[in-house]
Amino acid sequence: MAQEALYGRARPKTLAKLIGQDHISNALAQAISGDRLSHAYLLVGTRGTGKTSTARLLAKAMNCDTVRDAQKSGRPLDKKEIPCNKCDACRNFNASPDNVEFDAASNRSVEDVTRMLSTAYLAPLVSHTKTFIIDEIHMLSTEAINSILKLIEEPPSNVAFFLATTEVNKVPITIRSRCQVLNFRLIPQTTIAPYLLRIARHLEVDLHEDAAKKIARLAEGSMRDALTYFDQCYSSGGKEISLVDVDEMLGLISDEKLDKIISAVNAHDRRATADAITVAFNSGVAPNSIAESLITRLRDLEFAKLNRGEKSFAGVDTLVDALRKSISEMYGSGIPDIILEMTLLKLAAPVQMSAQLPTVATDRPLSANLDAGKKIFYDVLNNFGRQDDDINHLLKKAVVTNFDGKTLTLGFKSATLANMFGNNRQVEFEQQAAQAAGHPIKISVVVDKNLSASILDQVSEPDRTALADAMNAFGASDATKI
Ligand SMILES: [Zn+2]
Repeated sequence: MAQEALYGRARPKTLAKLIGQDHISNALAQAISGDRLSHAYLLVGTRGTGKTSTARLLAKAMNCDTVRDAQKSGRPLDKKEIPCNKCDACRNFNASPDNVEFDAASNRSVEDVTRMLSTAYLAPLVSHTKTFIIDEIHMLSTEAINSILKLIEEPPSNVAFFLATTEVNKVPITIRSRCQVLNFRLIPQTTIAPYLLRIARHLEVDLHEDAAKKIARLAEGSMRDALTYFDQCYSSGGKEISLVDVDEMLGLISDEKLDKIISAVNAHDRRATADAITVAFNSGVAPNSIAESLITRLRDLEFAKLNRGEKSFAGVDTLVDALRKSISEMYGSGIPDIILEMTLLKLAAPVQMSAQLPTVATDRPLSANLDAGKKIFYDVLNNFGRQDDDINHLLKKAVVTNFDGKTLTLGFKSATLANMFGNNRQVEFEQQAAQAAGHPIKISVVVDKNLSASILDQVSEPDRTALADAMNAFGASDATKI
């Protein structure tokens, strides 16, 4: 496979070329220089972080003539010459009968594995040290594990074991305690992206920087995945790979399409949300992949805001939670597209404004008492008004005319409305207002036939849109008609 080919070609040839695992390559270089290598290593880490590559480098270095000469003479070795790749032992390493490699995850029979392990007791045929590299050690049968245990407890001379695993908790403690453990870290995106750009330059491919970053992010710490994605784009594309190419070739949805969905939902615009979802579906990306990409995109946008020292945008937690829930609902469902569509449309419903309105109101300092009064009023309108149609109806006809910090004055155009409010709802409103303000609030009601200002007219420009949405939430599509 072409993907394997690039990963294979890009395997590090020396410890100096091991990417993103300096803590391991430095420690190993010192151990090799001091001739202090162990006869059993347990290499632990996520797939594609360099475990097998490191095992091969070590196996090769143990037999490298240059390394062994340096060890004998006490000459310190540079990471670049471990192994040298020039001596006979290095050049013949790949064909050496003394290096045994197998993947315990493949369906090898117990007999097969036992037979391979039994050769550990025979002297190396052509090399100095016989090496065994076993991937996914935790998948071995108990019988095979016991054979290995015996071998590392009383090792025959000139034998070394490199046991790799992605699930160290499944490796028996007896094995773990007898091996030198090397913990491989996830490789940071900031290491993967420049590495991809370097490889691309070497291959004379114009890989765009944002495309490299996207691949690095998708790889989630695995260099193998990064190279596989890059190879996929490289083999199906041309000499130039852009962000759009990466999205298309890997069957991903573009950030632009995701941003349209996010801003439509955030603006509580159901029409725009429906349109943006349709566009996303038309790109042929699976609904669960769209939902996952939305979560990733939201996380990226949040991090970007954090880095700029900005506040996170309202409702992001709700959105992520809902998307996460929808992904599990989609699993095994015959209607994943409808599940995602309904999730997003529900989030785009104006009713979500309850979470956002106070945020908008507190974004700017309350410049005057009247502003503080209005904020309390909107909070009550948002909570109390939602629970009760009657009070909602009444409050939509009220205007905050004054607030001195203790008494909130509400103006009504007619005495009938003022009486309805005063007789039936004033006490409850005061309780709600006290809750919103955090201290007792008295309500004073005034009647003024000349009151023409609707709620919208009282609000400063930045709040107007948010308020209009809040009014929509209560069924007042045109707040100025109140
Ligand atoms: Zn060599």
